[in-house]
Amino acid sequence: MPPCDILLINARLADGRQGMAIAVHATRIAAILPPGAALPEADAVHDLAGDLVLPALVDGHMHLDKTLFGLPWMPHQAQPFRMSRIETDQNLLLNLPLNTETRAGGLIRHCVSQGTGHIRTHVDITPAFGLKGLEGVLAARDAHAHMATVQIVAFPQAGVMRAQGTAALLEDAVRDGADLVGGIDPSEIDRDARGHLDTVFAIAERQGVGIDIHLHEPGELGLYSVQEICARTTAQGMQGQVTISHGFCLGGIAESKQKAAAELMAESGVALVSHGAGGATLPPLFLLAEAGVRVFCGNDDVRDTWSPYGSGDMLERGCIIGWRSDVRYDSQLEQVYDMCAGTGAAVLGIAEHGVDAGKEANFYTIPAETMAEAIGMHPARNLVFFRGRLVARNGAVF
Ligand SMILES: [Zn+2]
Repeated sequence: MPPCDILLINARLADGRQGMAIAVHATRIAAILPPGAALPEADAVHDLAGDLVLPALVDGHMHLDKTLFGLPWMPHQAQPFRMSRIETDQNLLLNLPLNTETRAGGLIRHCVSQGTGHIRTHVDITPAFGLKGLEGVLAARDAHAHMATVQIVAFPQAGVMRAQGTAALLEDAVRDGADLVGGIDPSEIDRDARGHLDTVFAIAERQGVGIDIHLHEPGELGLYSVQEICARTTAQGMQGQVTISHGFCLGGIAESKQKAAAELMAESGVALVSHGAGGATLPPLFLLAEAGVRVFCGNDDVRDTWSPYGSGDMLERGCIIGWRSDVRYDSQLEQVYDMCAGTGAAVLGIAEHGVDAGKEANFYTIPAETMAEAIGMHPARNLVFFRGRLVARNGAVF
């Protein structure tokens, strides 16, 4: 009989098995037992009444420092182009009535209540902010370490070469606790692709951290950046440690070039994270995944200075991405689920992910029959567990 603190009965698993029992001991899944098996004693028993148990969702691209979560509704203020959003941020975020830690913490809890266990967030590192945003997000991360992991990218939102002092700040941010160094549109924002990428890759090499670069550049211009990122990744032996965020360009080039770019990214071990942006070309996510690129998903902006949209729900995000990719079959929706969970976990370096005996107990329960239904309908989550502890029930976080 396995040792057991919490027992979940009448569980449905993603492989279709029903009436299962899941025994949780300390931080791990001690056993998964079939119907009719003798059940261990437990301090707490939850009857799932047939709910599906799915592995923790992974939000691979957020901006916890930018969110307006927790504030009264604020109408969007920026002009409809990227530079205006960047400039609006630099003024607005410094003068909000709630500090970064409070807003970021509120959004982390909201994400956890919807089954997210792991987050990668970018944090603005600019001359206007210095390391203020980072300090707030680090504090929010520490305060919520019992319910989610948060990985932080030092993000040069205002550029590197055009915003003097940013390179040194990025390095300071990594020393102070950021896990990766970021970048943004080497040509379009900085107008110096070589300077930008050389600087970012040099910081990564000196500090021994991975890289995650926002790439909004369209078409052939963006493709050039993809090629330069892949070349530097390989030259520096960083395969598996570099991510391109968005990569809109990959959706705006000929199919033959998409295939060549996919092969190059797979060979170079460069991953892609997408949020299925509404106003931009969508990368061919399935073509990329088939070529061996690690494709994962994130919510990006959740009600913030860049966008009034976003619920923080990774299943809803998966639904948007599946819909935009025009996929319908269960096998494809299962792939979308993996982009919102397992592949994201692998890229974030989460060693244990999945609902299996022996693994860390990071999962949630949902009234759905299959992963495909969870993506298609994304019903509300019931119970959320992180490291063997019940952290949320029916949307309320403990
Ligand atoms: Zn972003």
